[in-house]
Amino acid sequence: MRIEEDLKLDFKDVLFRPKRSTLGSRAKVELLREYRYRHSGRTSRSVPIIAANMDTVGTFQMARALARHQLHVALHKHYAVEDYVRFYGEEARETSRLAFYSLGILDHDLEKFRAVRRATGDAIESVCIDVANGYTETFIDFVRRFRDEFKELTIMAGNVVTADITEALILAGADIVKVGIGPGSVCTTRKMTGVGYPQLSAIIECADAAHGLGGHICGDGGCTVPGDVAKAFGGGADFVMLGGMLAAHDESGGEIVERDGCTYRRFYGMSSETAMQKYAGGVAHYRASEGKEVLLPARGPVESTVQEILGGLRSTCTYVGARKLKDLSKCTTFVRVTQQLNEVFGRQP
Ligand code: 5GP
Repeated sequence: MRIEEDLKLDFKDVLFRPKRSTLGSRAKVELLREYRYRHSGRTSRSVPIIAANMDTVGTFQMARALARHQLHVALHKHYAVEDYVRFYGEEARETSRLAFYSLGILDHDLEKFRAVRRATGDAIESVCIDVANGYTETFIDFVRRFRDEFKELTIMAGNVVTADITEALILAGADIVKVGIGPGSVCTTRKMTGVGYPQLSAIIECADAAHGLGGHICGDGGCTVPGDVAKAFGGGADFVMLGGMLAAHDESGGEIVERDGCTYRRFYGMSSETAMQKYAGGVAHYRASEGKEVLLPARGPVESTVQEILGGLRSTCTYVGARKLKDLSKCTTFVRVTQQLNEVFGRQP
């Protein structure tokens, strides 16, 4: 047994140090980023925020709403083949261009993807190969074989939290490595297994490893407020994936529940018992669920939340003197803190 003593940080452990700047207005901050991907050779131009591939977040409706602001969606993997074919075939080009097709690493995931691809030609540009634990040889081999078969696709793959496997995944064919084990709002991995890594440090360390190889990373999970999204970018994330922050909107899907005159939406982890009952006929005897279900007050259209997130991000950029989101990480100095917020008035009704 060994203990690593050096300090690892979460979003709650830091704040941005404000810096003198010549930036006039936050309206001038450019949030669009352009990337060129190491393996696919493709380029993208977008606001690099991705709705998570959860069936109560990453829906076709969410894809349409977010595309208006040039944000991405990782579509959840539980639609039928015909639904994806219709989406990639009929949707406005911009919306489908910004959508990641998600798949796991089982044979039927690959077969389903091949079927969708056969029917949609080259409409799918990017995929998200997603497993809870990205540390297995099987996963890295899958990414390698997938890359051999689909040379022109941009591949995001994860999840991992350390530099070694980030490098291994990029060398195996991933363009973007998805980073985060245990920080998610409806994730119980840390509770059930004791495994995890503070998310801001995971982002900083994996970004450093990926950038050295010409790869990219996506910080996935743990953002609770727009300031956390900014901290993820400040730490070096090229993309940030959001679940809970985009849940419970009109576009999120998720069953509506009326209780005591209030309207709620169900939101649950993709490894929760709820999800496993729905898609896998229950929790297999050899595993425990690693996600939970919550009821969130319904939040209406996602538009205002998106504006809040983008507004917050622009404001962070002006505080630290970054003209573009691209410059945010170089302009970032984090200060370690022991307190984030003044909560004297608590939550107001
Ligand atoms: P959030 O933005 O809600 O904090 O985190 C979203 C992320 O949580 C997802 O993109 C995914 O990586 C992770 N996640 C979603 N469902 C589950 C689950 O059931 N268990 C675990 N361990 N992680 C989950």
